[in-house]
Amino acid sequence: MNIFETLYNEFIGFFGIGGIIEMVKKNDYSSLTTWAGIQNLIYPIIPFLLLIEIIRAIVYKRFKIEDYKLSFMVFVLNRFISRFISIAAVGFCIGLFEQWAIFKTDITWYWLLYGYVVWELAHFVYHFLAHKIRILWCLHSTHHAPQQMNLFVNFAHFFLEAPYADVIRTSICIILGVSPPLLFLIMFIDGLWGSFIHVGENIIKNGRLGFLGKILLTPSHHRVHHARNPLYMDTNFCNLLNIWDKVFKTYQDEKNEIKIEYGITRKINQNNILDAYFGEIVCLWRDIVKAPGWKNKLLYIVMPPGWSHTGNHQTAKIARTGYLAEQDKTVKNDDNIAEKP
Ligand SMILES: [Zn+2]
Ligand SMILES: [Zn+2]
Repeated sequence: MNIFETLYNEFIGFFGIGGIIEMVKKNDYSSLTTWAGIQNLIYPIIPFLLLIEIIRAIVYKRFKIEDYKLSFMVFVLNRFISRFISIAAVGFCIGLFEQWAIFKTDITWYWLLYGYVVWELAHFVYHFLAHKIRILWCLHSTHHAPQQMNLFVNFAHFFLEAPYADVIRTSICIILGVSPPLLFLIMFIDGLWGSFIHVGENIIKNGRLGFLGKILLTPSHHRVHHARNPLYMDTNFCNLLNIWDKVFKTYQDEKNEIKIEYGITRKINQNNILDAYFGEIVCLWRDIVKAPGWKNKLLYIVMPPGWSHTGNHQTAKIARTGYLAEQDKTVKNDDNIAEKP
């Protein structure tokens, strides 16, 4: 295969337009009445939105290569490795756990609803642990490294993160009775929505989506999730339905008065892919080496980011609780001043 053919295939693959090209070539559009045919039409939406976002940014002279560079480089690195491990992991978990499924579901609207609630729970578990267990944060932090929000952030992932996420999500769903065809349908919807919620402020400035924000996890909610402001840290772990964040009290809406600052609390070099990719692993390694005794070394691996053997913890939970307590004090003080004649 020559280089042009490879580039052409990458281009077609990235935009997901292979199916449409086939249809046009054969001049046969009968597949549009099938699910596979509809999928062919839906796939290219996100890559094309991404293209529109970049073109708009160029037209309005707001395009800065730094906004896209980090996510793009990570995308290239992940492209081949992650996808194959992930597919293998999903197949392995289905084979392993299907025999223990508590019941069997099929593709009907009510099972889709059930399957989605279960999928969201499984997604919540994976995502929550990715923020609360230091070694898993090492994998997930790459996605939080970019300091801007745009559709390219979708592609910023450590290559082992998708397989880890898929093992947790597939196992929970299969055991709770979500059948493989239903699971693939949900994964497809989840992938599309999960990409859409990374839409930048250039395309959709106010990402709250009106009344839909009451049940759906909107771009605004996900922008909050990507923020390092103390109030916003470690909130909104869901993907399409925000129910489990409400159940587990990790729900946080965007406040007009608190402007989102994207990124992680550690200062990272936005031009250095190695820092975004391996930076947290290096930090964890340094903490392990420094820690006295095996117990402390082990605790650094499993405790939340910011945990310290000295007792001087700087976790997201402490930062958020401290911020809320401070806010509470200010409100009370204001009330006292208002009460005085
Ligand atoms: Zn996250
Ligand atoms: Zn994200």
